[in-house]
Amino acid sequence: MAEKEDFYKVLGIDRNASDAEIKKKYRSLAMKFHPDRNADNPEAAEVKFKQVKEAYEILSDPKKRSAYDQFGHAGIDPSMGGRPGGADGFSDIFGDVFGDIFGASRARGGVQRGSDLRYNLELTLEEAVTGTDAKIRVPVLVACDDCKGSGAKKGTTASNCSMCHGHGQVRMQQGFFSVQQTCPTCRGSGKQIKDPCAKCNGHGRVQETKTLSAKIPGGVDTGDRIRLAGEGEAGERGAPAGDLYVEIKVKPHTIFSRDGANLFCEMPISFPTACLGGELEVPTLDGKVVLKIPAETQTGKQFRLRGKGVKPVRGGPIGDLLCKVQIETPVQLTKEQKTLVEKLSESLSGGGKFHSPQEHSWTDGVKNFFDKLTG
Ligand SMILES: [Zn+2]
Ligand SMILES: [Zn+2]
Repeated sequence: MAEKEDFYKVLGIDRNASDAEIKKKYRSLAMKFHPDRNADNPEAAEVKFKQVKEAYEILSDPKKRSAYDQFGHAGIDPSMGGRPGGADGFSDIFGDVFGDIFGASRARGGVQRGSDLRYNLELTLEEAVTGTDAKIRVPVLVACDDCKGSGAKKGTTASNCSMCHGHGQVRMQQGFFSVQQTCPTCRGSGKQIKDPCAKCNGHGRVQETKTLSAKIPGGVDTGDRIRLAGEGEAGERGAPAGDLYVEIKVKPHTIFSRDGANLFCEMPISFPTACLGGELEVPTLDGKVVLKIPAETQTGKQFRLRGKGVKPVRGGPIGDLLCKVQIETPVQLTKEQKTLVEKLSESLSGGGKFHSPQEHSWTDGVKNFFDKLTG
């Protein structure tokens, strides 16, 4: 991920700037960098213009601004972070296993739990079927060591917010009611940073990459999610970390396709084998097996190899491997071979026997169709 410039710096405003200040600054900068007004260097102006626009889009939205203040750019990156749909929407198959191992205790309300992360993991079909130990590199926010997580420049400290006096909450009078709400000045942190730390831009946390090892059980399929409890983003001020959801995507395989527990493959066989029958080596995920092809096998015929499919991750019987026969027409025939085929053809059309069952029923069908049209 390319290092992005801090949005507050882009707009040249204080971290505690009000919505009105943000808007005002955005307008003046947007005018300044508008490509129409920078005919001498429109490209550079456009880059600046886009930066300003992006910063404004985040900071002018209270929710996005708060996420940005807490998590920096990772808080608003759509590919990582965010709570993907809420835990209820998941097929959270291993939550219990991993949940117990990592001893995740959910803190509800009060402390701000770290964000959940999603990681897209691509597996080969073989890995998905047998399971694997996947090494996963995830960007995480860790406490900044320059400021020890406070967000204030070395030698300075964050002071209590002047509006809420460090409570993070303020009482607002609305008609007859007095409503408690998150302090708009410090957005709930209770702190104001006059001199932000240069390394973390006052966020108190910086992005680092950590490598995790995730045990992927055999039988997973595209769309399955595995929860690594407590491996998401660090919580704020000692709050519990979020979870990491590993979402599986199985890459297409050169031979097999998959539907649930069953595997499918297409199997070319030669014309003589189809006629006379024979034995064929068929690949399966755990080695080759020999398949008996009966004489007079037609193209499209499907052979079922029981138990050679996938063992479903949620339990249940092992699936089958279904091999569909594709009879190959011989190509690049020599003169001699052509003569032989002609001889075969002559022999097949004589003798009064039906050698082509499908062609016969098809020809009969076509004949009936035309008879009905004309008759
Ligand atoms: Zn710092
Ligand atoms: Zn405050």
